[in-house]
Amino acid sequence: MPESARSGAKSKPAAAKPRPAAPDRRVAVLLPLPLREAYDYRIPDGMDLGPGDYVEVPLGPRRVIGVVWGPGAGTVESGRLKAVVRKFDAPPMTDVARRFVDWVAAYTMTPPGFVLRMAVSVPAALEPPRPMLAYLRKADAQAPPGFKMTEPRRRILALLDDTLAGGPPRTPAELAEEAGCGVTVVRGLAEAGLLEPVMLQPTRLGRPDWHRPGPSLSPDQRAAADDLRERVISGRYSTVLLDGVTGSGKTEVYYEAISAALEQGKQALVLLPEIALSAQWLDRFARRFGAPPAEWHSELTGAQRRDTWRAVAKGEVPVVVGARSALFLPYPDLGVIIVDEEHDSAYKQEEGAIYHARDMAVARAHLGGLPIALVSATPSLETKVNADSHRYARIALPARHGGAVLPEVELVDLRRDRPPARHWLAPSLRKALTDTLAGGEQAMLFLNRRGYAPLTLCRACGHRMQCPNCTAWLVEHRLARKLQCHHCGLQQPLPHACPECGEEGTMAACGPGVERIAEEVAELFPEARAAIMASDTLHGPRAIQEMVESIGRHELDIIIGTQVMAKGHHFPMLTLVGVVDADLGLNGGDLRAAERTYQLLHQVAGRAGRGERPGRVMLQTFMPEHPVMQALAAGDRDGFYRLEAEMRLEAGMPPFGRLAALIVSGEDPTLVERVAMALGRAAPRSETVHVLGPAPAPLSLLRGRYRRRLLLKAPRSTQVQPLIAEWLDRVEIPPAIRVQIDVDPYSFL
Ligand code: ADP
Ligand code: ZN
Repeated sequence: MPESARSGAKSKPAAAKPRPAAPDRRVAVLLPLPLREAYDYRIPDGMDLGPGDYVEVPLGPRRVIGVVWGPGAGTVESGRLKAVVRKFDAPPMTDVARRFVDWVAAYTMTPPGFVLRMAVSVPAALEPPRPMLAYLRKADAQAPPGFKMTEPRRRILALLDDTLAGGPPRTPAELAEEAGCGVTVVRGLAEAGLLEPVMLQPTRLGRPDWHRPGPSLSPDQRAAADDLRERVISGRYSTVLLDGVTGSGKTEVYYEAISAALEQGKQALVLLPEIALSAQWLDRFARRFGAPPAEWHSELTGAQRRDTWRAVAKGEVPVVVGARSALFLPYPDLGVIIVDEEHDSAYKQEEGAIYHARDMAVARAHLGGLPIALVSATPSLETKVNADSHRYARIALPARHGGAVLPEVELVDLRRDRPPARHWLAPSLRKALTDTLAGGEQAMLFLNRRGYAPLTLCRACGHRMQCPNCTAWLVEHRLARKLQCHHCGLQQPLPHACPECGEEGTMAACGPGVERIAEEVAELFPEARAAIMASDTLHGPRAIQEMVESIGRHELDIIIGTQVMAKGHHFPMLTLVGVVDADLGLNGGDLRAAERTYQLLHQVAGRAGRGERPGRVMLQTFMPEHPVMQALAAGDRDGFYRLEAEMRLEAGMPPFGRLAALIVSGEDPTLVERVAMALGRAAPRSETVHVLGPAPAPLSLLRGRYRRRLLLKAPRSTQVQPLIAEWLDRVEIPPAIRVQIDVDPYSFL
């Protein structure tokens, strides 16, 4: 397990210190609310309760669901003790799952109840499954006289049109959500006799079959797969880095580990950074195992969440693939965890309970006594260092499968090879695009910036369009004719006149976003079939899947995309990747800027030449001598890591040192400042522990809240949690101020 995971507080149930036997039969129940400890409740006569049982209990005027966390601890005196209302008929939360909640809470310094909330995120799943009412469109039904066909009613009927051709029935809640109206509209249509009611049974998930043979593996792949299999069969904790270039067959290899877990009658969990973008992964899994895995992510409907949660709890789901929250599902007997693209920053949850899913997954594996594989072509420096020092095992896959060669990476020096004014593609990249199109192949232009232009300013007075709620420029989205804040979502029309000086027609777009690159492509190659691939131009996983398929069928010649398209997709006809601004991620003073830029560009480059034709990658940069660019051009991954590790070691930064951030925020800037200063004065300081700040956060205003940051830096051997707890105890925090604790911060904004 990572150092980070090891040094967290010992797992200890939230209900502490049992007192001498209380006269009543009582239990401590943890509630999924931001509470520090479990509360005692009386066990009513005739009810049998054990640790992990899901129960309903009174809390003030409400009734809430909770989990029996242990024996009563005397936190409530007998006279005021309330009784448990009922016990749910569901398999109890396992001992490992409860210890995991306590562990995550202690490590991230989050109230245990708040962490529990992620584990009981679908209370409806505890109720016995009930068939649900859903509707089809009724053929040839006439509206009764006097029935007004309003716009919302029309929309709902239109949504159900496909049911006449065999489409699936939809529940009232789903219809209301899709049509953007209330459920009463749906009921009105049903009462008017225009809808056909049907009862939906809970969805049954298919069962992946481990007997199905996989492809025949190369000797390297075979050795890697056998190693993983043995770990799964041994049923002991270990962490392995599965380290292999893109296309080396890492996925095929970890499928073998999944197959081994199923063979043992256990479950497998696969974490993917962006599950909603992973349709190709799901198809591939279904082809390999004959049935899809259960998915767990934010795009699921309420009914899907409920059915999946319940099925997992009952042990009916052998394989779950999910986003970070899938760690908290009620697995009865997990046999292996796979963290694919383990270096991806999407694993860090930045809101609510702030945690890194990769690190928590290692902790989960440790608590559960099972193997975990961290998979990447460009591991995080944390994982790389853990593998180099043999804290983690390493399995390497050095070559691309089937002899496909890694693409050639060239640096385009923008200081010499200059694009024309207000254009962004250098002459050499233009030439390469021309050649690629002439050869009947596909090209991709990568720019990790949505919209048309990142900044709009007035040419007369220099006024810059800024978000009123955030420290951020407004981004022009020309297709949508709007200015948008990418932090708080604010949207406003493009101003015709400058809001500052009133001059008309002076507002100018500065710099490129993908929309502007698309404009340049249309100008250069009017015949080419081009499209933008970004999260705001593609709505949802299905749209992304369609785009990916259409690229695969070669219905597009040039794709202009953000990182949505950098992840995992496999395009055989794609032979040229042009990175418009390779320097983009390097600015901004982030500890991991170089590492992240390297990982992202490496991954983007990996899109080229995945088929039979060799690929070519061109990185446009103003800093061709930068170590990141040099390493990419030379294909010297380990050289880059060595240099990066040296720099971090020298600076005492992670993974060689430890960081924790406090973010102080509130609506009143003076109060925020005052509390931040008080925290600064009360900060723990010693020869080895330093606190930097308070400093205004780079996003010093976010969604209308003022923010100040403090950063604690300590040697790796230091347990930072007790230090921070004592520190916070020394300062009075007024209710209008929020202090967020971020242990092992990844974002410094
Ligand atoms: P990675 O996960 O390392 O990027 P994949 O597992 O996706 O690599 O493999 C890359 C491509 O090569 C995929 O299309 C995969 O199906 C194919 N492939 C890998 N190993 C084999 C094998 N042993 N037999 C047949 N196809 C393979
Ligand atoms: Zn904003």
